[in-house]
Amino acid sequence: MEQNLDIHFFRERLAERLIELNDLVETGDAAAKPVELDQTRVGRLSRMDAMQAQAMSIETKRRREGEVVRINAALERINNGRFGNCLECDESIPTARLKFDPSTLLCISCAESRE
Ligand SMILES: [Zn+2]
Repeated sequence: MEQNLDIHFFRERLAERLIELNDLVETGDAAAKPVELDQTRVGRLSRMDAMQAQAMSIETKRRREGEVVRINAALERINNGRFGNCLECDESIPTARLKFDPSTLLCISCAESRE
């Protein structure tokens, strides 16, 4: 089924999110640096906290980088006119799903079968 998508709207949303993510990735880099093992200043508990915070920020960074990849793929699909169609089965992705996350590349059933 042919959808009448507001490509301009999605392009703007994706571009904005990309800028936001680039800023976040840069600020997140500082927190993801190796934990200092300065035993004289940092107690065992706070060292654990620091390591936990580091693990979390690495995970966050990994997620953000994954989103950047998806956004770039979505922008590419806007450029080649494939945006809004599922990457796997080529069915139209519901507009509501795209509005919720414009970087979605799969329809609901393909996304579910990938999990
Ligand atoms: Zn699909």
